[in-house]
Amino acid sequence: ATPTALMVGTGRGAQLGILIKGPEVLESTKRVDTIVLDKTGTVTTGKMTLHEVYAAQGTGEKELLRLAGALEHASEHPVARAVAAGAARRSGLDVADLPAPERFENVPGAGVRGTVDGHAVLAGSARLLAEAGVTGLDALADARERAEAAGRTVVLVAWDGVARGLLAVADAVKDTSAEAVRELRRLGLTPVLLTGDHRAVAETVARAVDIGTVYADVLPEDKADVVRRLRAEGRVVAMVGDGVNDAAALATADLGLAMGTGTDAAIEASDLTLVRGDLRTAADAIRLSRRTLATIK
Ligand code: ADP
Ligand code: MG
Repeated sequence: ATPTALMVGTGRGAQLGILIKGPEVLESTKRVDTIVLDKTGTVTTGKMTLHEVYAAQGTGEKELLRLAGALEHASEHPVARAVAAGAARRSGLDVADLPAPERFENVPGAGVRGTVDGHAVLAGSARLLAEAGVTGLDALADARERAEAAGRTVVLVAWDGVARGLLAVADAVKDTSAEAVRELRRLGLTPVLLTGDHRAVAETVARAVDIGTVYADVLPEDKADVVRRLRAEGRVVAMVGDGVNDAAALATADLGLAMGTGTDAAIEASDLTLVRGDLRTAADAIRLSRRTLATIK
């Protein structure tokens, strides 16, 4: 590959909204046959809203919103932001008026833990609550199944060792995602969805954009392992992501693509940045590099 042709490719990339770390990146793009897509913030907007509140028998909805909202307000996670904003709105409060937790701890890929109003509160995945030995989860099973089947991310809430209710958060698939996946397929790539979210939610999103292979319930530290395993099968893997928890997987892939709307950690770990956060530009990037390299031959 002549440096001049690669430089031309890099310049054309910038016009398309693709920032390329170095001209040599285009070379590794041409053999890519598999594209791993993070769900939240990549295939979906990541702008979540609180959709449903379900309090267990004997629990007041007001207290559920207050304790869960206060704890999640201390977290930056998109799910947490939706819970805090929704809890405040439904309580007629400003988010800033939610009580400050006395203690707070973030559990990556799982949820949050802390103390609010003297109660030991947990909010997050079923795994987080089960591992903490929380009782009363069975009473929430029906409500949880219903929300997950509808494609919502469920935040289970417990305090003082007992499950008290759940909050269902809704995210929307981006308008452009289905078309992007179609274009990627047309280029001969196999799309794969990768997420820390629950399987039912992941499958709903995968169905909406026509992705056949889904890795769900994957812990942040295990996302890179999924990419490693695909490479060990002999595939040449591109990965698209936006979160801090995608950084290791982006660096492990043959080609890492970050959403420009995502975190600095994801952008730094990647070879390419899709400036507008539009997944269709991932297809543009692959097409561009193939064309650039074809003119060189
Ligand atoms: P993704 O891979 O979809 O970007 P994450 O790995 O960040 O998602 O999180 C995986 C799952 O863990 C989320 O879908 C959610 O169920 C749960 N979770 C993570 N952080 C929080 C939080 N602050 N509050 C509630 N649930 C959370
Ligand atoms: Mg994400």
